[in-house]
Amino acid sequence: MTLETPTANSFSLPFGEQRNGPLYGKDILSVHQFSREDLTHIYTVAHEMRGMVARIGTFDLLKGKILANLFYEPSTRTSASFTAAMERLGGSVIPINNVQYSSVSKGESLPDTVRTLECYADVIVLRHPEVGSCALAAQYASKPVINAGDGIGEHPTQALLDLFTIFEELGTSDGLSVTMLGDLWNGRTVHSLARLLALFNVKLNYVSPDVLKMPDEIVAELNGKGISQQAFTELDPILPETDVLYVTRIQKERFESQEAYDAVKDLYVITPDTMKQAKEKMIVMHPLPRVGEISMEVDADPRAAYFRQMEYGLYTRMALLAMVLGKA
Ligand code: ASP
Repeated sequence: MTLETPTANSFSLPFGEQRNGPLYGKDILSVHQFSREDLTHIYTVAHEMRGMVARIGTFDLLKGKILANLFYEPSTRTSASFTAAMERLGGSVIPINNVQYSSVSKGESLPDTVRTLECYADVIVLRHPEVGSCALAAQYASKPVINAGDGIGEHPTQALLDLFTIFEELGTSDGLSVTMLGDLWNGRTVHSLARLLALFNVKLNYVSPDVLKMPDEIVAELNGKGISQQAFTELDPILPETDVLYVTRIQKERFESQEAYDAVKDLYVITPDTMKQAKEKMIVMHPLPRVGEISMEVDADPRAAYFRQMEYGLYTRMALLAMVLGKA
């Protein structure tokens, strides 16, 4: 008996040339660019990617395509998952994680660096400390630029994977009470996720010290969309009704002084005791890395979804790359 090796084409999947797909050739800069319809499309593909990885691991959908991974700020998950996504799809990666060893250290501008990389690659994933840097890069690049975090601005692919996690774990996002906790001022993941959730019927709760509250501009934007939002300084009052507890790290690197960081760094810690007050059917998420805000004893709780969340990130990024490159 001959065993046929499955390929992308042997499944009836949404794969193949898709030059009229919603993301084909597009930059991914902000969650503002997505409609509910786009999300359905992305998650259908991400869900299929999950199945494909489970069944065959790696396949040749993006064979011959090259991704440039350009990171001006530290990263473990985003950079590794884009690399893994590209490699699982049969493509390859130019990794530039240590910009100090690239021509950036000689004073090369971002526009010149991206115009260089696009000579070699089909798509550029960029993380940079300045808000708006990815939009600037996209103005100069003719190949698609994917924002992997621009300072305290946005992190759209993280928000896409966060929402995919909510769908896969809870089946829906409509009607949910989502509580975001920690550094809501500097946390680009919560900025993007709050905006993305505004496409659905959700209730958003913000728990933070006043100095780290959700920026007024985002609260006003979501008010304008009719989203119910409440701010708290403690978790206790809102925890019992929470369906998704989204914990974030206090972003030390964004603080002006050690004293300012020390004043807020240990305000919230999720422990097994906290989990006793939470619903039985709820999930705890975190974009990671964590630096003490969720105790390791919580990891064994089935509601702790933060490790599964990373895996959903792989499938979401596979879907995005395949769609941007016109193959899904
Ligand atoms: N990894 C996420 C980010 O790059 C969250 C964090 O760093 O706290 O924004």
